[in-house]
Amino acid sequence: MTGPHRPRKRVRPFAAALTSAALALSCAVLAAPGTGEPEALPQKRGRDKLDVDYARDIHANTTDPAFLSEWVDHLPSSRKVPSPKAFLGYSIGSPGVLTQPERINDYFRALAKSSDRVQVFSMGKSHGGREMIVAAIGSRRNLGRLDEIKARNRELADPRLTDEDRAKAIAADTPPIYWMTAGLHSPETGSPEMVMELAYRLAVSEQDHIREIRDNVVVLITPVLEMDGRARMVDWYYRHLTKVTDLHDSPPRMAPYWGDYTAHDNNRDGLQQTQALTRNYTETFHEFLPIISLDLHESVPLMYVSTGTGPYNESIDPITVTEWQWIAGYE
Ligand SMILES: [Zn+2]
Repeated sequence: MTGPHRPRKRVRPFAAALTSAALALSCAVLAAPGTGEPEALPQKRGRDKLDVDYARDIHANTTDPAFLSEWVDHLPSSRKVPSPKAFLGYSIGSPGVLTQPERINDYFRALAKSSDRVQVFSMGKSHGGREMIVAAIGSRRNLGRLDEIKARNRELADPRLTDEDRAKAIAADTPPIYWMTAGLHSPETGSPEMVMELAYRLAVSEQDHIREIRDNVVVLITPVLEMDGRARMVDWYYRHLTKVTDLHDSPPRMAPYWGDYTAHDNNRDGLQQTQALTRNYTETFHEFLPIISLDLHESVPLMYVSTGTGPYNESIDPITVTEWQWIAGYE
């Protein structure tokens, strides 16, 4: 969706509420030296006991306190569900660390094994033979209804089967599915890391805003869409980039090809369906029929307001279209 981007060496996620009933969206931010540790880290937040060691890492690895909203300045602790650090050995966003895609999938399977609020399904294999997954996170009740929810979404999607009254009845009593996909563009390295921590928060926290999400939404997370490209990018990072300090005199920042035949334009393959990852995505989309699909990208730090050259909706004033282009060029 966006132009080529620099891989980011150090990331620290933050999240924000969409609405009281909706979902945490997340973005990655560049981090360099940490904000330092506050004098006393809290042991408790609402009903959650906190993982103070992890919170110490969060503060150490975040560049500016402005990034530390109350959503992400702490991590709940759990006796039975492994935190990212308990599983991987490091906190998400630690400097100089990227996680191989199979390891990320392993973490989601560990969440599913230890929590009845997480289930993991296979989406099929990538071109390179790596398994793609989708994790479902929600209340035990909603996950128990997953097949029913999918069947209702199929009804909703087909007006030949479903009249307006039935559609309203379904909407009133069916939690929407919100599918978040990460790691389509391999040098945009933050999102596959971030979603591990987000999944843990969603599965473990007992705070009201997280319970509200679990009770009212089924969250799907695909942590890595481009499994082959992620593997190459992590190898590239460790081989060429970890010691780079001069960004003006450094090796190329990304592997030239992500799959055997594709690179950045894998996000345009929705039209042609030439790649296994695209076909797996499309089949999974039609299986779950999510109400919202969110593909997490990284980009340069400006608002991306326009792309392409049309055709545009003819009911939109051409002056408005011209202004989009102007803003896109100068913003
Ligand atoms: Zn992108």
